[in-house]
Amino acid sequence: MNRTEFTVDEMKTHLDQLSGTYDLARVVDPIECRILELHDDGSISMNKKCYGIWNADRKCVNCTSSMACRTGCHQEKTEQFDNRIFDIQSDPVTLMMQNGEAFPAVMELVSIRKEGSSDPSANDREAENRGHSAAEFLALHDHLTKVLSAGPFYEKARELLDEKPELSWVMISADIMSFRLINTLFGVTKGNEVLVTTAAGLDGIASGSGGICGRLGGDQFAMLIPESAYSSSALEDIAEELYGSFSSGIFTFCVHFGIYSIDDPSLPVSVMYGRANSALRTIRDDITRITACYDDEMLRRTLFEQEIISGFEDALGSGQFRMYLQPLVSDSGRIFGAEALARWIREDGSVVMPGEFIETLENAGLIHQLDRHIWELAVKQLREWQGTSMEDMTISVNMSAKDFYNMDIYDVLTELIERYDVDSSRLRLEITETALLEEPEKSGMIVSDLQNRGFIVEIDDFGKGHSSLSLLKNIQADVLKIDMSLLNEIESDHRSRIILGSVIDMAGRLGMEVISEGIETVHQLESLRSMGCSNFQGFYFSPPVPVGEFEKQCLNAV
Ligand code: C2E
Ligand code: MG
Ligand code: MG
Repeated sequence: MNRTEFTVDEMKTHLDQLSGTYDLARVVDPIECRILELHDDGSISMNKKCYGIWNADRKCVNCTSSMACRTGCHQEKTEQFDNRIFDIQSDPVTLMMQNGEAFPAVMELVSIRKEGSSDPSANDREAENRGHSAAEFLALHDHLTKVLSAGPFYEKARELLDEKPELSWVMISADIMSFRLINTLFGVTKGNEVLVTTAAGLDGIASGSGGICGRLGGDQFAMLIPESAYSSSALEDIAEELYGSFSSGIFTFCVHFGIYSIDDPSLPVSVMYGRANSALRTIRDDITRITACYDDEMLRRTLFEQEIISGFEDALGSGQFRMYLQPLVSDSGRIFGAEALARWIREDGSVVMPGEFIETLENAGLIHQLDRHIWELAVKQLREWQGTSMEDMTISVNMSAKDFYNMDIYDVLTELIERYDVDSSRLRLEITETALLEEPEKSGMIVSDLQNRGFIVEIDDFGKGHSSLSLLKNIQADVLKIDMSLLNEIESDHRSRIILGSVIDMAGRLGMEVISEGIETVHQLESLRSMGCSNFQGFYFSPPVPVGEFEKQCLNAV
């Protein structure tokens, strides 16, 4: 069965069927860490605080079910406790209660084995090869890829560094570009094959040199190897091989490596990995580069990121994050709305741009706090404009892909417009195509709920990444915002003009309004006009400005 939504009755029947196959089949609420009891009358009650019966090593925030709940995806893990091995699978589900309310939960399927009692299998053979018992092997290694899991990788790395202080070591992080898209475009089986093949290649390099390889999460791998054995060409060879195996007409496979030569072995291993990863991030979107080494500039960047994270909550609380507005202009030159863009105005008056902090806040799991703050500023502003000549203005706010995991977007937005008594159609929601592609089903559902509640949904940055036409088929957004990267070439390149013209035409036929972002020159404006686009945003009209200045622009335009 491949469904995520069940009535309480359906779930009871489903669990009954599964209980023949698994030692334990149940639904849990990972947010409050409780087992859910499903009753015959369709109601749900919760028993016992904390459902971990096994000795989950990082209960509760990182147990399989919490992970499943946060990522919205199937998760698997093995735990050992009391001489038994628990193979746990967690799948996010939604329970529909009798009163029509949806209850987000996780279905847990657990198989319990006695330690050492597993069948002779690939795990045994792997274990034998590496001098472990099968049970030890399972506990230390990732089930899918057979390389070390995150915790054991960190522990073994520390052991190696301490045991062989005479050696110089390098920490390497590896990451598959747009891995989620592989799952979305080709299915989970293909995604798994990619992970297994990648891990095998990396593990070959690591174990051949006396080092180790681990899977730290999703598509993130780490290696610790002696510096003497490190060669960037070996990494490039692997990248080339994987590219040959997995690229296709619609997808370019690319794996990136970040390299940190460990100059201070006393640093926590997680910091070493973080440095390797900082190097990786500098080339993450660049398919022409495979490796990047950590350097002083990255150390500066790392320290700056730490400063952003540690100063964020105070800065947010003291109003240092402001909303700037950039006008949206119609064909007739009328300003009909604005995009809200965050600016961090520090105490010394310096302005930090979103490019400096958005990604850091996303990685630190903090972006939803900023977004909620900017959304509230936008709604408050719409409220202030009510009854004035600005009351027809709309404000478009940005959403991060991470918001879909970290908060209930629908609840937050509806609460805001109700509290400030603002018409939901005045608040437009900009969602990037990446966010929509990463979790197409989940985001699709949220988008249609928001539209039903009257919000206008815009696809932001269309054309910036792996634009997928199927996105336009599946997500019925109201507005398409064309990214400036599609505009760059139109003046000189005939083919780009044809593509852009077709996108505008297609959006029109799908009933979507089109806004072209990043208009800088009158030529761009005229070209876009001739292609049928009639809404614009860009420095040609105005950069993002403080609210007061935006209001002046609107009044002057009247
Ligand atoms: P975006 O949503 O695509 O916003 C448009 C960006 O393009 C803005 O950059 C804007 O200043 C810039 N821009 C507008 N017209 C022109 C032009 O003619 N030429 C050029 N070169 N640039 C132009 P900004 O404000 O630096 O924001 C960058 C990105 O940061 C935004 O891209 C958005 O993805 C993100 N962002 C900004 N504020 C927020 C926020 O509150 N929450 C979230 N999640 N993301 C935000
Ligand atoms: Mg935007
Ligand atoms: Mg944009």
